[in-house]
Amino acid sequence: MNRIRERIKEIKSTLPGDVTLVAVSKFHPAEAIMQAYEAGQRVFGESRATELAEKAASLPDDITWHFIGHLQTNKVRLVVPHASLIQSVDSERLLRCIDAESRRAGKVTDVLLQVHVAMEETKYGFLPDELINLLDNGILEETPGVRVRGIMGMASNVDDDARIAADFKSIRATFDRIKSMSLPQAMDFNIVSMGMSDDYRLAIDCGSNMIRIGTTIFGAREY
Ligand SMILES: *Cc1c(COP(=O)(O)O)cnc(C)c1O
Repeated sequence: MNRIRERIKEIKSTLPGDVTLVAVSKFHPAEAIMQAYEAGQRVFGESRATELAEKAASLPDDITWHFIGHLQTNKVRLVVPHASLIQSVDSERLLRCIDAESRRAGKVTDVLLQVHVAMEETKYGFLPDELINLLDNGILEETPGVRVRGIMGMASNVDDDARIAADFKSIRATFDRIKSMSLPQAMDFNIVSMGMSDDYRLAIDCGSNMIRIGTTIFGAREY
C-alpha cells in the first residue's frame, strides 16, 4: 500500500479532534502531495515562496496552503495570493509588509506571529516580551490587512524532553498572555502552532492545537 496515505491515516487516528494537522510538503513533489490529498489531507505547509506559488497553481483548488518558512519582504507578493495562513511572521517589518500587500490585493490575510523561545540564536521570531510590547503599542489597529490568528513556535533542537516541554510551555504561556489582552481580533485569536515530526505529541500535551509534520509523512527531504 501507499506509505504516505498510511502515515496520514495513522497520525490522524491518534490526534485529538481540535488539533489541525499541517502536512509539511516542502521539497516534496506534487505526486507526494497528491497521495496525501487522496488520504483526505487538505492543509499543506511550504517554506519557500516560489515553490508555494508553483504548487498552488498546479494542484487542486480545495487545498489550503500555509506558509511556514522565513519570508523575505520581497517575496510577500508571491505568497499573499496563495497562502490562507502565513505562520511565520517574525518581524514588525514583515507584518506591515503583508498588511500593505493584502490591502493592495483587496484581501485580509490570516497570520500567526512567530515566537522565539529556543536556545538557538539562529531561529527566527519575536521574544515573548517583544511581542507583547508590539501588540500593546496598538499595531493591529494600524494593520487591517492582516488578522492575527495566534502564534507559532519551535522548541530547541535538543534531545532533552524536559527542555523541549519547557519551550512549548513558554510558547503556550505567550499565547495565553496575548489572549488575555484586549485586542481588536481577540475572538479569532485561537491558534497555537507547535510540534513537528519528533516532538508533536509533547507539543499537544503542552497545549498545541496545530502541528506541522513533514518527515514522518513524506520521508526525508532531499535539499
Ligand atoms: C520543515 C518544517 C517543519 C516540518 O519538520 P519535520 O521535522 O520534517 O516534521 C515544521 N515546521 C517548520 C517551521 C518547518 O520549517
